[in-house]
Amino acid sequence: MSGILAGIRKVLGKDQPRPNNIVFIVFDSCRWDAYQAARTPNLDRIGLAEKRYSYASWTSPSHYTFLMGMVPHLSPKGVFASNVYREEFATWSQRLGLPAVEFKAFVPQLSLPAFLKSQGYYCEGWVSLPVLNPMTSMSAHFDRYELAPSHNDLQAILDRIEFRREEPSFFFINTGETHYPYLIPGESAADLPHLSGVHGVFKSLDEFLKNPGAFLQDRKEEEFFTPDQFRAFFAKQIACVEHLDKVVGRFLERCPANTYFLIMSDHGELFGEEGYFGHGPIFHPLVFEVFYLEGLRP
Ligand SMILES: [Zn+2]
Repeated sequence: MSGILAGIRKVLGKDQPRPNNIVFIVFDSCRWDAYQAARTPNLDRIGLAEKRYSYASWTSPSHYTFLMGMVPHLSPKGVFASNVYREEFATWSQRLGLPAVEFKAFVPQLSLPAFLKSQGYYCEGWVSLPVLNPMTSMSAHFDRYELAPSHNDLQAILDRIEFRREEPSFFFINTGETHYPYLIPGESAADLPHLSGVHGVFKSLDEFLKNPGAFLQDRKEEEFFTPDQFRAFFAKQIACVEHLDKVVGRFLERCPANTYFLIMSDHGELFGEEGYFGHGPIFHPLVFEVFYLEGLRP
């Protein structure tokens, strides 16, 4: 136990409740309107999602801002960005259950896990997209940081999570059910019978995940998806959100009471709007629209 936490407990006595566990989950690529269209009774119990905006249009820079301690913004008008950031960092006080958290506690590393470790937290990361793998700078300051065995299995990640007895825990999780090709565990291209012409794409999924830019470059123009296929993708993404809601619902049953959740997407996804598919090198409002919710375990 160290830093502010140790000081507080010394002054207030050991019987003071310890800081909240933090579970931070990112539904990769989940569009705001897909989340909104999904039935999410379990997630709604944690907090009602609001429409926010991602700081970036693709996975890596978006997760970097998360790991700085920043969440998707509300695009406020008439304010200085520095004041928004200051309030954002101060919000960690309520999330953790600590009396005061100031921006200066995050410097010089500007790292959420480094800050939490200074408060006595155990920090563990589980990522599903290879672009966030443990060899990248994303893993800095974590006690443990793993690439999940599958790109689309939040259940498998949550099954591996153990809350610590001796110290509050921070779990940072990225899951890919809502990422292209929008499959829940056990599904395959065969489960998408109406997507004729797309099956070859699924065979190349591993290559796509490793290097999406090169993959899409290789696709011929005439292979671009049809409006029907885009509609099917949107429906699949909604179904994936509903699946994730059930997974989170089961996890809630075994979470300690003082567990605080932050759940969001890292960017949106384009399904044919103005000729765009996916996310990344796209300048379009829909790629920045995300869902965001937070709250204590109900
Ligand atoms: Zn992403």
